[in-house]
Amino acid sequence: MKKREKIALALGLILALIPGSLSSCGKKAAYLSDSFFALDTVITVSLDAEVGESETIFAGLRSEVSAYDTIFSAFLPESELARFNAGSGSFAASEELRNLISAARRGAEETGGAFDPTLFQVKRLWAAAEEKGSLPDEAELASALALRGWEKLGFSPDGGIFKGDGQMIDPGGVAKGWITERLLKTLEAADGIRYAVVSVGGNVGVFGEKPDGQPFEVAIRDPADPARVLGTVRVPGGSIVSVSGNYERYYEIGGQRYGHILDPGTGMPADSGLLSTVVICSDGARADVLSTALFVLGAEKGMELWREAEIPFEAIFISDGTASVTPGLEDRVELTGAYRLASAG
Ligand code: AMP
Ligand code: MG
Repeated sequence: MKKREKIALALGLILALIPGSLSSCGKKAAYLSDSFFALDTVITVSLDAEVGESETIFAGLRSEVSAYDTIFSAFLPESELARFNAGSGSFAASEELRNLISAARRGAEETGGAFDPTLFQVKRLWAAAEEKGSLPDEAELASALALRGWEKLGFSPDGGIFKGDGQMIDPGGVAKGWITERLLKTLEAADGIRYAVVSVGGNVGVFGEKPDGQPFEVAIRDPADPARVLGTVRVPGGSIVSVSGNYERYYEIGGQRYGHILDPGTGMPADSGLLSTVVICSDGARADVLSTALFVLGAEKGMELWREAEIPFEAIFISDGTASVTPGLEDRVELTGAYRLASAG
């Protein structure tokens, strides 16, 4: 299977929506859906089935996503981010790119650097290692790692952004959550949409209120067996649910799997004992950043972050056989069997 297809298949499996399955009075939410491939992932938009002009809304969202792709793609050589990455000094950035870089920097600061958007060269070494079938060279890894440092990201008053010499920025752990929130805002600005769900490769945003007045139910994949669901979490409209885990993307080298989430301290795949992390927050970039950071930090340090967070979020730490939840989720998570619910507090 081609890598692109492998990723598409895997990401399509991370989170699924269970439309209206909590409904008690028969007024179930019904959806019209549109799925497409962009941002190197599968995107699905599910709209209130009674909305008029759904084709126009779908087309509008597709073109919005494609506009973000031409700004943020790290792989399209003509994207704005690729041009920023290739250059040095102050870069006259669009408002969107400035906004994303600012969310990434803030995320790094808030997570003490567990989330670090300046690891792109390290990521590229892992991708090259997969291509050549042998582990990254230690000296190369050390020099790629020496380039990292989110503190070097900066902003000038005239709208410019800058980074450290030779640094390259990876949008991978933040852009999809940021875009998910923007798509919810677009739905909010459109007329007459009562409820909708957007899924952007591991980030699910829910909008509005369902006709039965019940919360949305988002299914969480079992990281140990991604064809199965380990449970569901109930969330109100306006939430973004981000999932990070190594079962979705990894580098396969010499028959071994190496996770795509990297420990910024070592440049090696993060190994905190977790299989996946789920974060729920009304700020999409933050949800995305935090799910990646908690995966790096592990449950104990992750809970320290939760206690100190200025902007509230909820999280699920999934390890072998256990789903540990933050206090706000204790009565909002339902598990299907193979996992035991525990309190992360
Ligand atoms: P996510 O799927 O949101 O957890 O993001 C993972 C992606 O973010 C990876 O595929 C990399 O592109 C990038 N990444 C990996 N490790 C880190 C890290 N520690 N901090 C920031 N971005 C990372
Ligand atoms: Mg993330």
